[in-house]
Amino acid sequence: MTTYTPMMQQYLLIKEDYKDAFVFFRLGDFYEMFFEDAINASQILEITLTSRDGGNIPMCGVPHHSAKNYIETLVQKGYKVAICEQVEDAKQAKGMVKREVVQLITPGTIMEGKTIDGKSNHYIGAVEQLNDRTFGYAYLDVSTGEAIASFIEGDGRALLMQMQAYGMRELIVPEPLQLVLAEQAANVGIILSVEGNEMPLDTGVSYVQTVPQELQSACLRLLAYIDRTQMRSLSHIQTFTYNEAQHYLRIDSSSKRNLELIQSIRGGDQKGTLLWLLDDTVTAMGGRKLKQWLHQPLATRTAIDARLAIVTDLLEAYFVRTELQALLKQVYDLERLAGRVAFGNVGGRDLAQLRDSLRQVPMIQRQLMNAEQATLQKLGEALDACEDVEALLARAITDHPPITIKEGDVMRDGYHERLDELRYAARNGKDWIAQLEQEERAKTGIKNLKIGYNRIFGYYIEITKSNIHLADLTRYERKQTLANAERYITQELKEKEALILNAEEESLALEYNLFVEIRETLKAFIPRVQALAAKISELDVLLSFASVSEKYRFTKPEFHEGRALEIIEGRHPVVEKMLNKQMYVPNDCVLEENRNMMLITGPNMSGKSTYMRQVALIVVMAQMGCYVPAERARLPITDQIFTRIGAADDLAAGQSTFMVEMLESQYAITHATQNSLMLFDEIGRGTSTYDGMSLAQAMMEYIHDKIGANTLFSTHYHELTALEQDLPRLQNVHVSATEKNGTVVFLHKVKKGAADKSYGIHVAQLAQLPEEILTRANVLLAHFEADEVVAVVQESSPQPMQMSLFAEEEPLSPAEADVLKNLENISILSTSPMQAMNLLYELQQQL
Ligand code: ADP
Repeated sequence: MTTYTPMMQQYLLIKEDYKDAFVFFRLGDFYEMFFEDAINASQILEITLTSRDGGNIPMCGVPHHSAKNYIETLVQKGYKVAICEQVEDAKQAKGMVKREVVQLITPGTIMEGKTIDGKSNHYIGAVEQLNDRTFGYAYLDVSTGEAIASFIEGDGRALLMQMQAYGMRELIVPEPLQLVLAEQAANVGIILSVEGNEMPLDTGVSYVQTVPQELQSACLRLLAYIDRTQMRSLSHIQTFTYNEAQHYLRIDSSSKRNLELIQSIRGGDQKGTLLWLLDDTVTAMGGRKLKQWLHQPLATRTAIDARLAIVTDLLEAYFVRTELQALLKQVYDLERLAGRVAFGNVGGRDLAQLRDSLRQVPMIQRQLMNAEQATLQKLGEALDACEDVEALLARAITDHPPITIKEGDVMRDGYHERLDELRYAARNGKDWIAQLEQEERAKTGIKNLKIGYNRIFGYYIEITKSNIHLADLTRYERKQTLANAERYITQELKEKEALILNAEEESLALEYNLFVEIRETLKAFIPRVQALAAKISELDVLLSFASVSEKYRFTKPEFHEGRALEIIEGRHPVVEKMLNKQMYVPNDCVLEENRNMMLITGPNMSGKSTYMRQVALIVVMAQMGCYVPAERARLPITDQIFTRIGAADDLAAGQSTFMVEMLESQYAITHATQNSLMLFDEIGRGTSTYDGMSLAQAMMEYIHDKIGANTLFSTHYHELTALEQDLPRLQNVHVSATEKNGTVVFLHKVKKGAADKSYGIHVAQLAQLPEEILTRANVLLAHFEADEVVAVVQESSPQPMQMSLFAEEEPLSPAEADVLKNLENISILSTSPMQAMNLLYELQQQL
């Protein structure tokens, strides 16, 4: 250690405390990194690696003004960055400048950058294992202060899937739990950070007063971590809200993906997702709230009905609605502004935005209170417009303050007497100088005499060389000589200059102090601004629901206490919107109390998967409190949705995909209740026929007998349709295809009963494959079916349920029967390739 320079010693001491982070060490205008950090960062960030102290110490650096992007890149990749600043003025430092880490930026706490999308929350979570089957978790958004705590039943995988579903990047855990979750967390791209401490309860009590005791540990550990890494006020972090799992419709992360609620399966942008369809919000807060509601639709009738009632009233009040949306457009991100106030990094422009946003609120309130609809009036009454905050800011902050707070022009004239005086003095002095220029020109007769200012010499009188003979050198004192001019000062000018500069300096300093004072005052108002923000964002989402419901002709869903689900002429809203020219074909879905499983058959591309998704989307939308794409929907309250719906590329991906399919099925089957909705698309297609068919049948029987959930099952194993006879809860439906002008036409119409058993060949026929192939395929089908039935009956099913298939089968033609017989008699082992060719030829001739 002693062989290093004092500065490197300082660095190493700091690095000791931040072993798991890149330490950005401030040196003048750069952040420097050393040793391992430098080597790694130079590779990740593609910046030049240099060295220091005689080549012994690897080093690389980034300019502090562009550091943001580099920090973001590192954090995005899952690293942490410790920002180490000079914490005293280099000029005043005795010896080496003091440096300290002022913030540890982590994947869960980063608040700025391209990747932080205004319309998304950026959550960081903490978990605690409560017993074998229960975890407690807490999460919050550092930028908005929103904080939530809840329980989850299940194993580590279920927990991590849930955390992933909320879009979490970083999870805080006590050390023992890190060991348990490490591998699974890595698989889903969640970073585990260990925090050994909890915030002491007496410090944190206000944050956790409303959560059950078992959840307090997770909350307090999370707060300790935020406190340790952010090192500044947490006053905007709200009291943790306890989310009771039963109050929400639970949808696991893969189902969210399968249903394309928030992300499309192909990844990339949000186009084609339900979020994209429903998002007519006009504020960033509203956008985030909509996403939250999509993540957690409701599961209590009163809450759902309350939202639906407001949407109904908004739909009725067309003018109020358009006025409200216009007003909301002027509202900035109140939640994040409140967060910045708390963090103390709020600038003049932020406060102007806060003021201008608050200015809209009384008008919003008036619109609501003057509406005829009772629910809207109530919303209006419940708003606290924070008029006192608006009044303070209106008095204090200029219309268009600059971004930085040290250049002045932030505080309004008339706000503070002394500031006014100083500004007056400075302005007055400048007027005096302008006047002086005129006077000196008159006195000397030099027309191009001018008075200028620069930082080094202050104010001066400038006279060009050709006019110097006219200058009054009894009063003028030469200060600077230029190539073609001389600059002078006078006693009087110097005095005025001192006055102006002093006034300006003092005014800037005072202005800064006043600004800081306001910023401090505002901290007390943060909870009220946050409460307002929450109401405004909800209003924005409900307005969005009303506007899309009108645009896409959605209707109000009805809920009832039973489990029957009845959707008349339902549509898949996203597919409908994406279809151009063609009409979407609406379909009913009726699941009765005692007949609530559906087996859907039909060829590929006929619309099976679209039909299943549409049912799920209608359930989700209804429980969010939105209208639904159907003529009529009468729904039960669903507690959970499970899906096993393959993406188009699943088939190609092979074996591992089949494992995913089984894992998703396992998750669904172990967590579903009779109040759940289960969607299984093509179960078992990722393995061999018998394997897959047996699995599919066994799963259906299990769901039928043991779970009783509302279930839609699609399959291309036609044999499964016979199950209808054994499982009273099961009904067959099919989606058919037809032919028009020589091409296959998918009608997309779901009809009662099973599809024709040879629908595959039927479609091939529609597609006009050569007759020879079709005939051959029919022969093979008959053959396979004969074998298959024997196999199934012998191995598993005591009932001859598959026998029914024979009834429908067409008998073989005599020629076909002959061919089969001959085929059977061939002894393959004693046949040469040439003989085989000849035999094949003969067989063909017989047909
Ligand atoms: P399957 O699951 O049977 O293979 P999909 O559900 O993927 O079929 O549907 C295939 C395509 O058919 C969809 O991408 C969509 O364009 C269209 N489609 C499906 N259902 C309908 C419908 N009800 N009305 C109009 N087009 C539909």
